[in-house]
Amino acid sequence: MKQTRAIYPGSFDPVHLGHLDVIMRSTQIFSSVIIAVAASKAKGPLFGVDVRIQMLRDSLGDNPAIEILPLHGLLVDFAREQGVFTVIRGLRAVSDFEFEFQMALMNRKLEPRLETIYLTPKEDYTYLSSRIVKEVALFGGDVEKFVPAPAAARLKQALGDPAIAEQARLRQKS
Ligand code: ADP
Repeated sequence: MKQTRAIYPGSFDPVHLGHLDVIMRSTQIFSSVIIAVAASKAKGPLFGVDVRIQMLRDSLGDNPAIEILPLHGLLVDFAREQGVFTVIRGLRAVSDFEFEFQMALMNRKLEPRLETIYLTPKEDYTYLSSRIVKEVALFGGDVEKFVPAPAAARLKQALGDPAIAEQARLRQKS
């Protein structure tokens, strides 16, 4: 069956301009896109899933072509629940390729209907990752050029709390 909807999964901890670029590109291809925000604690997120969703909402405004939902568990189960079998991922550099390739093939083994499509962001954003943004913010750098304003404000607020900042520092080291 031809697909008009797609899922863009990720941690978005926090959302940055590379993510927004991929989201905008995907809405030009698909009539609607579900941003699936992984609740998993595997990556030790700085922000809870609800805050990550709120940052995305505040950054994207009202767009009927975009839905933002939490992703609990496996992407293939989420895809089946939604009845959407096209997955979008961003490819920044060759270094992303190995992991993405492995994940796409594993997902296809689990659900043969699933197809993964890769989009590349504008060159200015290829160096961006949530991890590097948090690192810059932790050491007092200005992140406003890298993340939308609602995410910059949340970063400032979270890292202004010494206990949260210390935890984030420890997580970045591990
Ligand atoms: P990050 O690696 O920044 O923590 P996520 O885990 O939230 O990002 O990634 C969600 C998706 O967005 C992944 O497919 C990832 O490759 C993609 N992505 C992340 N950063 C960028 C970027 N700067 N440009 C394009 N795609 C990106």
